[in-house]
Amino acid sequence: MKHLALLLALISLPSNASELPINKVLTQIKTCSPTLVIRSQKLTIAQQNEACEVLSKQEAKFHQIFNTEGKPVKHDFNKNLRVNVYNSRDEYVKHASGHFNMPTDNGGMYLEGYPDKPGNQAEFITYEKGKVIWNLRHEYVHYLDGRFNTYGDFCAALHDSHSPPENCPKPAPLLPHSVWWSEGIAEYIAKYHDHPRAVKDVSIQVEKYKLSELFDTSYEMNGGGERVYSWGYFAVRYMIENQREKVEEMLVFLRAGDLPRYQALIRLWGTSMDKDFTAWLKKQIK
Ligand SMILES: [Zn+2]
Repeated sequence: MKHLALLLALISLPSNASELPINKVLTQIKTCSPTLVIRSQKLTIAQQNEACEVLSKQEAKFHQIFNTEGKPVKHDFNKNLRVNVYNSRDEYVKHASGHFNMPTDNGGMYLEGYPDKPGNQAEFITYEKGKVIWNLRHEYVHYLDGRFNTYGDFCAALHDSHSPPENCPKPAPLLPHSVWWSEGIAEYIAKYHDHPRAVKDVSIQVEKYKLSELFDTSYEMNGGGERVYSWGYFAVRYMIENQREKVEEMLVFLRAGDLPRYQALIRLWGTSMDKDFTAWLKKQIK
């Protein structure tokens, strides 16, 4: 038994000396506002101030579009977001899995946690790429959308991602999912009318997807970067700018977590907007 205990002790030792606790790596803390804190490794004071400013403008724009200021969804205690910024992609890969129990084969992650649990901390984990805080604006919208537009935690939403750290259960719910909305709105608020990559992606084949098909976008099936982000961006932009009443009707269900009615509504829309969407899209990419 003694040997076994020794063996276990050896196994549980950190595999390399770089596994420093988070407060020894992300040592700088900047409180932007009651809704936003930035914890970082090596951001300059100027970078921290700029990030605070960019995100507060974005937050104001979000509330202006949705009229959601001070009106979070029920049972959501995610009063603020903590942004965690590693100094480089290498530092991110080295530390983030240990610090947040998450994969690092990505460009950063938003971890909503369990918003219904008081004391839960929503975290966005990312890194500096050059002087840019990677995906900062996009991910901040996920926080806002999660708090003000969509009820429940990440696994409660309609999608088919099973990856860690949430490890949402299989099988995934039936289509339609809500990935077109959550990723599309993040792109729309972050980029608004200045999104050259989306224009480029969609221009390759402008009739590739009907709007009704985009409502069935998810992560694993019907996924892929172009469809999720670029086409999702245009689907959301079209809906917000041309079908506002329908968006409001849909948000009533998403905010209440009434997903069967959300799905029924999307199916009720069916193909009714497909022609108008494609015609509109052709004008946007000229
Ligand atoms: Zn996203």
